[in-house]
Amino acid sequence: MSEDPIPTVPTAPVDFIRAIVDEDLASGKHRGIVTRFPPEPNGYLHIGHAKSICLNFGVAAERGGTCNLRFDDTNPTKEDVEYVESIQEDVRWLGFAWDALFYASDYFEQLYQFAVSLITRGLAYVDSLTADEIREHRGTLTEPGRDSPYRDRPVAESLDLFARMRAGEFPDGAHVLRAKIDMASPNLNMRDPALYRIRHASHHRTGDAWCIYPMYDYAHPISDALEKITHSICTLEFEDHRPLYDWLVEHLFERDRPRQIEFARLNLSYTVMSKRKLLQLVQQKHVSGWDDPRMPTISGLRRRGYTPESIRDFCARIGVAKKENVIDVAQLEHSVREDLNRRAPRVMTVLRPLKVVIANYPEGQVEDVDVINNPEDESAGRRKVPFSRVLYIEREDFKEDPPKKFFRLAPGREVRLRCAYFIRCTEVIKDASGEIVELRCTYDPATRGGDSPDGRKVKATLHWVSAVHAVPVVVRLYDRLFSVEDPERASGGKTFLDYLNPASLDILRDCQAEPSLATARPPARFQFERLGYFCVDADSRPGALLFNRTVSLRDAWAKIEQKRP
Ligand code: ATP
Ligand code: MG
Repeated sequence: MSEDPIPTVPTAPVDFIRAIVDEDLASGKHRGIVTRFPPEPNGYLHIGHAKSICLNFGVAAERGGTCNLRFDDTNPTKEDVEYVESIQEDVRWLGFAWDALFYASDYFEQLYQFAVSLITRGLAYVDSLTADEIREHRGTLTEPGRDSPYRDRPVAESLDLFARMRAGEFPDGAHVLRAKIDMASPNLNMRDPALYRIRHASHHRTGDAWCIYPMYDYAHPISDALEKITHSICTLEFEDHRPLYDWLVEHLFERDRPRQIEFARLNLSYTVMSKRKLLQLVQQKHVSGWDDPRMPTISGLRRRGYTPESIRDFCARIGVAKKENVIDVAQLEHSVREDLNRRAPRVMTVLRPLKVVIANYPEGQVEDVDVINNPEDESAGRRKVPFSRVLYIEREDFKEDPPKKFFRLAPGREVRLRCAYFIRCTEVIKDASGEIVELRCTYDPATRGGDSPDGRKVKATLHWVSAVHAVPVVVRLYDRLFSVEDPERASGGKTFLDYLNPASLDILRDCQAEPSLATARPPARFQFERLGYFCVDADSRPGALLFNRTVSLRDAWAKIEQKRP
């Protein structure tokens, strides 16, 4: 496949985040910028993460800064090395390289010492209320919270308890470390938020070294500050957490304080995007795995045949804003279609074969017809495709009783076989049950190459393969995993699982491809003429070829764009 000289980092327009970064560089607030992408390794990355990756790595690369990959691995029970590895693979595959790789768990000792410092200064305390009691004390949006009776316990007592929490003296839930901020704050996140909890669980990196683990809201700002992150870009749901972020950074760091900036997360129609739900789809076997081509994961999109360029292009097009919205999944499909249109070689494959015998073509004769590989790309060259007496065409390209607007093959009618000849159907052969099993046709030798010297017109051009030369292939056609636009908004006792599309996968086992595909290896991508874009699946083997349809040719998004005033 020809590789276009596509820049690794597509230039994105100046959104509000880039504007802030540019201002900070111009004013001299920062000499260089540092960003990070901070996934929690509790699942595979999805297309929403791609938006965040393109933003964090993109801004840094465009502005001469650096970007870290940091695993936010503070919750031992849900995390796994399988996820750590897949995340690195996906970021690399998208075309980005991190300047440094960090784990929040690398900071466990420092995070602990910062907590000791907060306690010593009267800014944190060990609370011994139960989880339920803490909830009761928290108050509501309209009512202030109440102080815990442990709030004013002596610093020395909190220090002692915190050390013994670490030493493993207490069961889960016996105590928590809380910041001492303001139980009457209108922002619930500031009502003495928990900083540490006891959790007797093995961590995928630190093993059993710890039985207390820092909360995300505590670990994140400190990790950012330790790495001298300048702009900590996150999604809107953290906006209400920003005062806590700032409170921690201000009390623990004299300088190089990171600034949190929130943007709207990506939501896609016909898609669920929370890792919890994606995990459920995998665990309950609604899909074949995290990389099932119907999944919105990066690995699923990769297996589906998406290119990194198409995903980066999609992220650049949707842009970055501060307001939540839902992007039409057709826009994602549009990006891959555009990319593959330029790059994917055209081939002929028949998905549902119908045998055609050209009665007046000499038996045993074979000729090569000349076919252009990609009309969009001269440099892709041409190839020879064998033509012979017995061919396969697409079953749906023939109708015995053609309706009014059906212009393809029918009894007595003439059509073009792509780059080959005009053929006319002379006879329809059926089996005992009445099913059509074969068409008898004649060809016009004067139409070689696909044009008639007498100016005769045909209304359809069909793709075809020569039966003796064809290679059998299995083709998987995919449709949307969900049949409703917003599967997350399930109501009336239903869940998103009730909206799974029962027809999201169709496996065609009797397809016939032109012989050039015999040597196709993953991740090769093709346009199957008239049918869509397809890629070789990772499980494909020589002699047992397996293709996935990435996307059909019909571009719903282009139509939507055209209709715009
Ligand atoms: P999910 O809600 O899907 O489980 P998460 O936010 O828990 O995702 P993280 O691993 O914490 O997943 O995400 C890493 C980074 O990716 C965070 O900065 C997060 O804000 C960002 N991110 C997650 N989902 C999206 C999304 N849909 N659009 C844009 N950014 C996202
Ligand atoms: Mg998260």
